[in-house]
Amino acid sequence: MSDYRLNTKCVQAGYTPSNGEPRQIPIVQSTTFKYDTSEDMGKLFDLEASGYFYTRLQNPTNDHVAAKIAALEGGTAGMLTSSGQAANFYSLFNICECGSHIVSSSSIYGGTFNLISVTMKKMGIDVTFVAPDASEEELNAAFKENTRAVFGETIANPALTVLDIEKYAKAAHAHGVPLIIDNTFPTPVNCRPIEWGADIVTHSTTKYMDGHGAAVGGAIVDSGKFDWMAHADLFPGLTTPDDSYHGITYAEKFGKEGAFITKATAQIMRDLGSIQSPQNAFILNLGLESLHVRMPRHVENGQAVAEFLEGHDKVESVNYPGLKSNKYYDVAQKYLGGGGCGVVSFVLKGGRPAAESFMKRLKLAAIETHVADARTCCLNPATSTHRQMTEEQLNAAGIPAGMVRMSCGLEDKADLIDDLKQALEF
Ligand SMILES: *Cc1c(COP(=O)(O)O)cnc(C)c1O
Repeated sequence: MSDYRLNTKCVQAGYTPSNGEPRQIPIVQSTTFKYDTSEDMGKLFDLEASGYFYTRLQNPTNDHVAAKIAALEGGTAGMLTSSGQAANFYSLFNICECGSHIVSSSSIYGGTFNLISVTMKKMGIDVTFVAPDASEEELNAAFKENTRAVFGETIANPALTVLDIEKYAKAAHAHGVPLIIDNTFPTPVNCRPIEWGADIVTHSTTKYMDGHGAAVGGAIVDSGKFDWMAHADLFPGLTTPDDSYHGITYAEKFGKEGAFITKATAQIMRDLGSIQSPQNAFILNLGLESLHVRMPRHVENGQAVAEFLEGHDKVESVNYPGLKSNKYYDVAQKYLGGGGCGVVSFVLKGGRPAAESFMKRLKLAAIETHVADARTCCLNPATSTHRQMTEEQLNAAGIPAGMVRMSCGLEDKADLIDDLKQALEF
């Protein structure tokens, strides 16, 4: 499957049925698996034979879908998690522990920001946030002796900043640690961070990968490129025996290609248990089968809506990486070949009342706390997700009261623009 092009992989990677087997990936809705003798099962536990025994650790449906996502990202191994939050937490916690430090872009999803700055801090894991467009010097200055990972989002949700992945990878590697990239917004159709030097890629599959607003999920993909043994002292969890798992040294037994995901499965998933249900994995795969067809339409609609809004006199500013006026236009062209996703944010003149009147009039675009599915939706952070903040706090956070975030779906762009036109006549 590795020789096929991305479009083909979206449809067929991860599962190749044999003679007489189901054409579609079967949903193995079973918690457990049956064996004839306890000897047979013992071999599984001793890792002498491979096979399934309990769905918290592995399930065939999930494995097929994870293998497809790994193939799409150009990685060597992948795993599914119950949500994007779990994917980001596991990817970090797999190599960080109490006393570790993370360098992260400050422009990331709010849930991930809280995860790193509040919850992981309580676990004794420290963080230094840096601007997404930090200079090489600023990036290098953020590292400490105990830094174990660098984290960022290709296109940040909701700020829509675009990360210079090569620059971040260079800084991470100069300090002997991997770069973890959350590639949720562009999906591998619009950007494959591993090709630009990222070591681990994460996803909230809840967004475009599912693409229909049907199933919450996450995924982690390992590039198989990071040499844990070359930095053995920094990553003892991978490079010394795991007493909780047969005394195995993951980096020795599974090599660069398999160590990270095997540890994240056999240790972190085993102990924390945020497994994706096989039913959701099946739904996710239905989304993946058309990802390459859907993403260009999301981008086309996003670009058209952004250009329309930029020319409208009730609109103060528009933020979309595919606009020539955008600060990240050049970076977006390099990494995404355009706007990269269907999410556009804009600020209406007239603040909160203007945003409220405008959104009330929308007919196609529904008001939702969601982005990145087939149906266009929008949100005014000031009256929803950021409701507790004052006008001053909103401005300081770069989320003015009149800001609307719009996720362009797969409808006809002319209808979306007509809907905006009439809604702007408030
Ligand atoms: C939504 C999102 C997450 C969190 O994913 P869930 O599936 O909601 O847990 C993480 N990162 C990004 C970029 C997101 O957009």
